[in-house]
Amino acid sequence: SVSVASILAESAARRPHHTALVHEGERVDYAELWLRARAHAAVLRERGVGPGDRVALLVPNHPVFCEVYFAVLALGAVAVPVNVLLTVDEVAFVLADSAAGHVVCAGSLLGVGEPAAERAGSRVLQVLPTGSGATGSDPNGSDATGSDAGGPDRLDVLARAAEPIAEHVLRAPDDLALVLYTSGTTGKPKGAMLTQLNVLLNVGTTMRSPFDMGPDDVLFGCLPLFHTFGQVCGMLTCFAAGATMVLAARFAAAPALGLMAEHGCTVFMGVPTMYHDLLAAAGTAPRTPRLHRAYSGGSALPVRVLEDVERVFGCPVYEGYGLTETSPVVAYNQKAWPRRPGTVGRPVWGVRVAIARAELDSRVELLPAGEVGEVVISGHNVMAGYLNRPEATAEALVDGWFRSGDLGVLDADGYLRLVDRKKDMVVRGGFNVYPREVEEVLVRHPQVDRVAVIGVPDERHGEEVCAVVALRPGVRGCAEVAAALTAWSRERLAAYKYPRRFEFVDTFPLGPSGKVLKRELVSRYAG
Ligand code: ATP
Repeated sequence: SVSVASILAESAARRPHHTALVHEGERVDYAELWLRARAHAAVLRERGVGPGDRVALLVPNHPVFCEVYFAVLALGAVAVPVNVLLTVDEVAFVLADSAAGHVVCAGSLLGVGEPAAERAGSRVLQVLPTGSGATGSDPNGSDATGSDAGGPDRLDVLARAAEPIAEHVLRAPDDLALVLYTSGTTGKPKGAMLTQLNVLLNVGTTMRSPFDMGPDDVLFGCLPLFHTFGQVCGMLTCFAAGATMVLAARFAAAPALGLMAEHGCTVFMGVPTMYHDLLAAAGTAPRTPRLHRAYSGGSALPVRVLEDVERVFGCPVYEGYGLTETSPVVAYNQKAWPRRPGTVGRPVWGVRVAIARAELDSRVELLPAGEVGEVVISGHNVMAGYLNRPEATAEALVDGWFRSGDLGVLDADGYLRLVDRKKDMVVRGGFNVYPREVEEVLVRHPQVDRVAVIGVPDERHGEEVCAVVALRPGVRGCAEVAAALTAWSRERLAAYKYPRRFEFVDTFPLGPSGKVLKRELVSRYAG
């Protein structure tokens, strides 16, 4: 029997007085965090939550997220963290789909959580004061029933008076620990069912390598905790190592640099957009002397950005690859192997990566090294399936492999290079164009700051390659710049690949974890 809750329980036993969390001037040590989790668990148990029950969390980055998350797991229940940026309709869908009996909702999100819960038939328990935002300190103004005037019962207030549960419930290795909804970059969210063993093994293997986390590390935690990257790679590997997490409510580059300097952060984890913003805010001399490694994932990190970060911050950047469905880590550049920028490294321990013929849907036919195809994955990290979606599960889990929907190529040493998402590939006049390759070329142009390449419908070629470009400060998008970029890419790319159309923007639409939403760009420029 096992439990993901053991991650916190064991660190609390081993290093009770070591700081687990730093947030807005508050420091919480491991013993205190585990005590609070068990107190929240006592209240949830009183409300009828038991092993196997699903409890949704609609809570932004705040220590109370961790307390509730571990409370749910400590009862042997299944945690369903929900994206805090979703609308009422979307949250209602997730609550109903996951059959969450309770949703724990931050006061600041009741406007979404309450109507969604009503529609889905879930009960709401509030944490954090209403109208406080995620970060306000609790004025403790609730009555003895723990509810803000007229609002739902206050779980966190009730927990303060509760007798913590003594021990956490253990479960079978294949019992569910989490249902994580894919962020929906490419469609309607699907709930990936992750077992206790999925999560424990992914954390256990990645904590040592690639993440190399030790108790003296201080992680800057700015990724959203509801998303697999921030939750499993960030929070869980940090707690498993007994390290400290400096938790930011949200990412903004200038405050992030200040907090990392103030708390002597040693590790940064982020998506490429964050690296881009950090570079812009840091200038040439950031004050983060203790920072000695950075991890990137979630979307492609242009090699130019990786090189700039290493030069400016003086620490290596390790890029890796993962998906919600694979708990999440699949492959990473890791210390034990020579780093290869532009690749996502080699598979982590116990995980196998292969390349399959992408055109085949119903079976997996593996291709040799050097050939481009769909990345398929097998190992301890692959989800049990999508909740309530037998057809989607059957499409994703084929012949013992998980089909990632990503295109990639393995080299002779087992390093994986991602080529693009299958769905993002542009077919221009019968030729396949991989946007990522075009982006890598354009982002090296001195006037280009950021770029996203998409396919837009075209009468003659079926699809046309369109580059959506944010220019460096001081450069204005005009016909001359477009001509210069055309010439630049034409020199470096085959005739069918270089963009015939350029659109200039100041900002990009971003998903919840900071990824560029290409789907939105496509609908914007499709006309
Ligand atoms: P949805 O699955 O609904 O489209 P999503 O793609 O945002 O949402 P996640 O599980 O957050 O879901 O992301 C997994 C995807 O992120 C991978 O399939 C891959 O396309 C992309 N990805 C992750 N790491 C990298 C990387 N280093 N380089 C390029 N792409 C990456």
